[in-house]
Amino acid sequence: MTLHPSVRDPARSPNATPVPAPVFAADIGGSWVRMRDGGQQAPAERLPSPSRLRHPDRPVHQLRAEMLQLLSDRVPAGARAVLSFGAAIDHLTGSVYGSAPLWGDESAPYDLAADLRRRRPDVTWQLVNDVTAALLDFAATHARPGTRRVAYLTVSSGIGLRIADLERTRIPVDSGGLQGEVGHLPVPLSEPGAEVLAGLPCECGATDHLASVASGPGMVRAALRLGLADAGRLPEWLPGALAAGDPGARRLLELCAAPVAHLLRTLWCLDPHLDLVGVGGGVVEGLGGHYAAEIRRRLATATSYADRGRDADWLDDRLVFCEPGRVDPLRGVLGIGEWLPGITP
Ligand SMILES: [Zn+2]
Repeated sequence: MTLHPSVRDPARSPNATPVPAPVFAADIGGSWVRMRDGGQQAPAERLPSPSRLRHPDRPVHQLRAEMLQLLSDRVPAGARAVLSFGAAIDHLTGSVYGSAPLWGDESAPYDLAADLRRRRPDVTWQLVNDVTAALLDFAATHARPGTRRVAYLTVSSGIGLRIADLERTRIPVDSGGLQGEVGHLPVPLSEPGAEVLAGLPCECGATDHLASVASGPGMVRAALRLGLADAGRLPEWLPGALAAGDPGARRLLELCAAPVAHLLRTLWCLDPHLDLVGVGGGVVEGLGGHYAAEIRRRLATATSYADRGRDADWLDDRLVFCEPGRVDPLRGVLGIGEWLPGITP
């Protein structure tokens, strides 16, 4: 008899009904590791992450060993462990390509899933990127009957996008197990005045990427380039300055939101069946209505016969700006079992 991996071996009492494996969920970021043992209703526990962000002095091999130990010490015997990981991940293998907050500029891929399986072979380990986990939560809470494809875009310390096909329960990836790493695409600086932002660096080491100007750190770089006096305390200054109609703050928002609006416009041009898009992350949460209004203003503007501008009802129907707490990767990753067979090239 083959035993489904998520069911405990009932060998000790052959007549008993198989007991479902306990579920352990974790959301791993540069600042915190959040864990939940026992499903959706169980309380979440939060521990400081053994990361480069918190321990700039520790070598990468030590940080990785500490992460392995933290996870394998916590997970219950025979569990199904679902992990949302704040890094670019090969979704086909569980290998981690790199994460500046966790492991600095270490660029050699690291097969975290393989190390976890070696260390705790009794556990079924399932690993996805945190944008994928956030997308699953957004789709579960916001998709309506008939929604065909749904996307989640995070604009935060980095920028990432994931699209799911709800009709086929699929999240297509490339041969490297990736999808939607849009933060590292070249940024269009085509509108008048945007050339002032040319040459800004990206966390990946290149220049002129979308994240160079539109992520949280990118907006700080853009503010410095524009010579704004409050660039050093941007998250504290910008919302109030926008509310007060400060022209420098307004210009910064326009320049940094433009390439994000361009990305959304391109997505809808390429995929008219993309029925729902969530936009979240620290930049969106921090700037709130100012950010949403600027993106909507740009999408409402006609740019050509092929892009005639989207009216308010059309946008209301498809575009959701997510306030803090609305999307939770720790909740979303619990649904990954249903999706994993459909995460394929
Ligand atoms: Zn980059």
